[in-house]
Amino acid sequence: MKKRGNLKILLSIFSISLILPVFMSAQTSPESFLGFRPGADRQLADYNQIMSYFRKLDQESPRLKVMEIGQTTLGKPMIMAVITSEENMGKLDTYRGTTKKLRDPRTLSADEAKKLAQEGKAIIMITCSLHSSEIAASQMSMELAYKLAKGETPFDAKKVLNDVIVLLVPTSNPDGHQMVTEWYKKYVGTPFEGGPMPWIYHHYAGHDDNRDWFMFNLIESRNLTRVFYHDWLPLIHIDEHQMGSTGPRLFIPPFMDPPIPNVQPLVWRGVNLMGASMAYDLQENGFSGVVNGRSYTGWWIGACDDTPWLHNSIGLLSEAASVRIASPIFIEPSEVPNSVYNKQMDFLDPWPGGWWRLRDIVDYELTLSLSLVKTASLHREDLLLNSYQLSKNSIEKTDKNQPYAFVIPLKQHDYPTMLKMLDVLMMGGVEVHQAKEDFTADGKSYPAGSFIVKMAQPFKPYAWALLERQKYPDIRQYPGGPPQPPYDNAGWTLPLQMGVACDEVKSPFPAKLEKLEKVPYPQMLASQGNAAYFLLDSRVNASYSIAIALLKDKAELWRTKAIVTRKGMEIPAGSFIVKNTPDVKKALPSILTKYHLAVLDLDDVGDIARSSIKFPRVGIYQSWRGSMDEGWTRFMFDEQGIPFTTLHNEDIKGTKEKKVDLKANYDVIIFASENPDIIKSGRFGGGPGGGPGGGPAGAAAMQASQYPPEYEGGIEKEGIEALKSFVEQGGIVVMMNAAVELATREYGAPARNVLTGVDRTKFFCPTSLLNIVVDNAAPIGYGMPKEAVAMFASSLALDTFAPPYDWDRKVVATYPDGDVLASGWLLGEDVIARKAVVVDAQFKKGHFILIGIRAQNRAQTHGTYKFILNALLYPEAAN
Ligand SMILES: [Zn+2]
Repeated sequence: MKKRGNLKILLSIFSISLILPVFMSAQTSPESFLGFRPGADRQLADYNQIMSYFRKLDQESPRLKVMEIGQTTLGKPMIMAVITSEENMGKLDTYRGTTKKLRDPRTLSADEAKKLAQEGKAIIMITCSLHSSEIAASQMSMELAYKLAKGETPFDAKKVLNDVIVLLVPTSNPDGHQMVTEWYKKYVGTPFEGGPMPWIYHHYAGHDDNRDWFMFNLIESRNLTRVFYHDWLPLIHIDEHQMGSTGPRLFIPPFMDPPIPNVQPLVWRGVNLMGASMAYDLQENGFSGVVNGRSYTGWWIGACDDTPWLHNSIGLLSEAASVRIASPIFIEPSEVPNSVYNKQMDFLDPWPGGWWRLRDIVDYELTLSLSLVKTASLHREDLLLNSYQLSKNSIEKTDKNQPYAFVIPLKQHDYPTMLKMLDVLMMGGVEVHQAKEDFTADGKSYPAGSFIVKMAQPFKPYAWALLERQKYPDIRQYPGGPPQPPYDNAGWTLPLQMGVACDEVKSPFPAKLEKLEKVPYPQMLASQGNAAYFLLDSRVNASYSIAIALLKDKAELWRTKAIVTRKGMEIPAGSFIVKNTPDVKKALPSILTKYHLAVLDLDDVGDIARSSIKFPRVGIYQSWRGSMDEGWTRFMFDEQGIPFTTLHNEDIKGTKEKKVDLKANYDVIIFASENPDIIKSGRFGGGPGGGPGGGPAGAAAMQASQYPPEYEGGIEKEGIEALKSFVEQGGIVVMMNAAVELATREYGAPARNVLTGVDRTKFFCPTSLLNIVVDNAAPIGYGMPKEAVAMFASSLALDTFAPPYDWDRKVVATYPDGDVLASGWLLGEDVIARKAVVVDAQFKKGHFILIGIRAQNRAQTHGTYKFILNALLYPEAAN
């Protein structure tokens, strides 16, 4: 029996290999390459294995080609596989060109578009495991590639891959993938198996790598954005994620309310069509627990899967229930929440509970990904033609409340930051024009050189959504009930975040315009370099970078104490005076070119009131609980060229062997937004020995820790004392957002958060932009405009009070007494009106700088960076 069976198999293999070309049988499966099946319990392929596997398939299959699309933050190659028929593979440039042409109707007649749609291919993109602990998709990607290349699909792969070009990115965060796999493998078989890492899984951003898709701070975001909106312009994109463990097994679109208004209805219809097709194919194959229309909204928040909507593409998200990285979990049926226990129209086939494994997620994702490829083939021609129609609508139709254009005036508070904004807009595919002559728009005159973003452009929805002020709809949990929070940001208006002047213009205006091909960085006409002194304007963020670079090179610098008038210009308080020396003269040209900034020559500074400054030795605190705000703080410092040292708990509290002397080593210590309990004890609620205000210690202490013991604890009582002594001796401690309460709670800084204990029916402000009023004569407010905008994200409103002996306080910024909201959603503005936002609390010889908002939120809020930068260059800080 056995022998005959084998012979039969042998014969059939033989006959197949006679019929099929040799390559069809020569492909290595992921299982034989890795030595385990992708998704097997407690097994993970790391990034090197994934790359090697894809490269092997590239060699073995004419249907797959691996491309490097750039490097990662930590220097790894970032790869993308192109999978399509052999015939298409030879004509990729032609098909990219077809898509590009269809996306710009200004160069195309309807008949030409129709012809191109008939000839073109549907380019679709699948990105995996942007969130590195949501690791299943990265493992799935190898099997997906193999099945497509080999033709092991539930459809005719030859036909489908002739219609479709699949762009497959096995992981959108390779550095994080490597961190997570290494951490997991290290602790498999220990009590910490499958637990979280004590640090964030993107060097700078952690989970926020999915809030970067309009700012493009991260190199990985830029690599993929070039594919999205410059090189390939896929019609459909899906980003595959994971969510919590006990709810539905899988979310796929449709999304829930509210939709962002700028997106065209046909885009949402496409999203819903693809979602329904995936759900249909999943159901057909017996996958239960698939939900839609819940949790994930159509309100854009700068996430990777949402940004395509605003570029007239179909943007999709899948969210599978998680396991513990690669370790299976068991969900008791009684643990399945009530909301997903019964059949409902948005949840037709409840999952009953039981074992849940990495391989289960891989199977769901494999099925939905193949479904998407198939559906793209079925709709190839209409998807292509609709991409033309959507672009045509963008340009030719005028939507409700649509402005004609946005004008970015030449005169800016901080010109180089405005140029940075242009760079970011153009990276996202926005067309920007520059005026060649003076012009008038909505009754206001603008000089030549001003920038214009016209709404009549292919990616209108995107440009519009970034430049306008958001009005988040007032959605309640039930009529008259408390507000229903948005998924994340309610507002993000880019010019407001960056402190860039930008006017919305309603009516069309004539102007002589030229389209920008690149950001027009000015040619730096460095001064002759012979003046005795130079002046750097405190309104410009780059001035701080230059000042720090020069101080580092031992230059002599001061900050002005009041407005200086020179050559008809008013230069605000806090500007930098640099003494010219041969070293300065040598260093200046390259530094000014780097930061796109000019200096003003000064011959005599005798009459200018000024204070000396010195190079700040900066420490940034990093807990073992992975604070994204800390990561973004490092990003901001690296971007601004400011050196710093990362401080862990022991560096602040010292050890038995080593006492620390913070003042001997640092001038400024920064705490990014983090719960004060975490900073002090490493646990919410304070844990054992949490101290006053630490909350009930028992509950936290009962929880078994998910972290190895070396990552337990906080700065403890010793660290609190060490920081106090640091400030007493003249040190500066910056506490941001949530960390502000460490200063009020532990040190008695003369301020109190009025929002503590205020419930949602009285005050509610999900991440939004709020107006603030700044005292720019105060050192921490130097260089700021009197009226500015700040990002409120679980932020504070402070009541200050006359302090006891040893303390003083200076309110640097407050909310205004009315019209507090700038963009987003705010209920109960009277609760925070006139309250303090930024306070300079002096204690003995030093300062606690309390910044109650997110001054460097996701490295997007360049408009409030100066609150932090000023703390670094505090005039006459005690030595
Ligand atoms: Zn995710």
